[in-house]
Amino acid sequence: MAALPPDVSARFAEGSQYLAGRLRPGTSGRRQTVTDPATGKAVLEYELAGPADVDAAVRAAERALPAWAGATPADRSEALYRFKAALDGRAEELVWAESLQCGKPLRLSREFDVPGSIDNVAFFAGAARRLDGLAAAEYSGDHTSAVRREPLGVIGSIAPWNYPLQMAAWKILPAVAAGNTIVLKPSELTPLTSLMFAEAATEAGLPDGVVNIVCGTGPDAGAHLVGHPGVAMVSFTGSTAVGRRVARTATEGVKRLHLELGGKAPFLVFDDADLEAAVHGAVAGALINTGQDCTAATRAYVQRPLYEAFVSGVADLMASLTVGDPFDPDTDLGPLVSHTHRDRVAAIVDRARAHATVVTGGCAPGGALAEGAYYLPTLVTGAAQDSEIVQHEVFGPVLTVSPFDADDEGLALANDTPYGLAASVWSRDVYRTGRAGREIRAGCVWVNDHIPIISEMPHGGYRASGYGKDMSAYSFEEYTQVKHVMSDNTGVARKDWHRTVFAL
Ligand code: NAD
Repeated sequence: MAALPPDVSARFAEGSQYLAGRLRPGTSGRRQTVTDPATGKAVLEYELAGPADVDAAVRAAERALPAWAGATPADRSEALYRFKAALDGRAEELVWAESLQCGKPLRLSREFDVPGSIDNVAFFAGAARRLDGLAAAEYSGDHTSAVRREPLGVIGSIAPWNYPLQMAAWKILPAVAAGNTIVLKPSELTPLTSLMFAEAATEAGLPDGVVNIVCGTGPDAGAHLVGHPGVAMVSFTGSTAVGRRVARTATEGVKRLHLELGGKAPFLVFDDADLEAAVHGAVAGALINTGQDCTAATRAYVQRPLYEAFVSGVADLMASLTVGDPFDPDTDLGPLVSHTHRDRVAAIVDRARAHATVVTGGCAPGGALAEGAYYLPTLVTGAAQDSEIVQHEVFGPVLTVSPFDADDEGLALANDTPYGLAASVWSRDVYRTGRAGREIRAGCVWVNDHIPIISEMPHGGYRASGYGKDMSAYSFEEYTQVKHVMSDNTGVARKDWHRTVFAL
């Protein structure tokens, strides 16, 4: 029996922008509807942020910067521990809001999105006190060289709709832990949990203006934020196509840039793999978040002896899943984020039918689910390596499977797309998994698993999947700049090296 989703219209009656420590309405004059993708019904209508709201948010972040950047690491750490406690108190509200705006089954929001985001806060509360660098030393003999690790200033962040809360955490935490202030623009389709996250930060005592949220469209509020002269760094997560546009503007402004872009993760199964583990791993890895995951397993390559058994195991398991209402505890898979996106996924599968076989799924369910943005778990075989469905992001519950013979061939196929975000390899042979770990060109290679992420380890892409790292202490490399302070320690007026300029 499904429970009732929350009334978010009442919750955001004051407005859906978060500037300088409070909710307020946007001023663009244009309105946006947040839709429950499970029903197609509107749950919130709000006024979008426009350039003037972005300007106000950047001003708020600039005002907050000197005190926050000047706070001791211990003070920032304390504030972030209080932030974690505030989020613990709001966890169930976040679970429901995330499920409502994205269509995620409650089980996914409750066991993955929300605890993962809160753990990120806990990690950065500790990490705020560990901004490491070289120890000071007399490298020249006559000077003491020290390295200062300093915040950059105001960070402009842009996030996608697939994991709104986790993306807010990944963007905000390393930035503010390192002493920056931030203006985050979530996707206009999914603003709810980013706003709640910022409210919790204020409740925890983070000063007004340290965390600001502008909810507007990409070409309007997003582009203005990226080009804003007050923004020192742009941190973007989204598609490779939009990332390229963002990169051009940020580069023109000589801004620090961090890009987390699309993915097309291979799932490489050697003939000595545990078949049951590989089948379950492939279905879970392909279907998590209804496949709207940048690291989702999208292309399985299976060595010939296991190929037939793998295909039938995956097809049977996919067909056994319960697709339905996100608020029903028995639901395994919810809808896609919107009807528009569902139709895009369906069109890619339909185009593939001309040359490939749809083994299971390949359509939207009817009956009680007909009004929602649903699409059945889909398995495709026989797709050519250079086809659209193998080379490009589908971002839906769709897995292709292809056979291979020699290990070299499997590894070459795994590397054969422009992307490089994540991959997995399945084998009991440490030499095969070790080789795959070295040779697959991706920011993360899982061995005998696919998807788990942890706050302590870096997440980020190679090649067209972008550059820079989210999470972990590595993310501080993005959100800080290193200054060399070199002090003469001789007190001598006429230094030896002056002879290179004047002889006397
Ligand atoms: P998208 O690229 O369409 O939009 C991402 C964000 O950019 C949104 O907030 C959007 O409003 C904004 N935007 C759009 N045009 C803009 C512009 N001209 N200037 C500034 N901002 C602009 O992506 P999406 O459809 O929201 O999300 C899905 C994509 O995100 C997929 O490609 C997925 O792989 C990627 N993603 C990557 C990671 C990662 O860690 N690498 C994580 C999650 C999602």
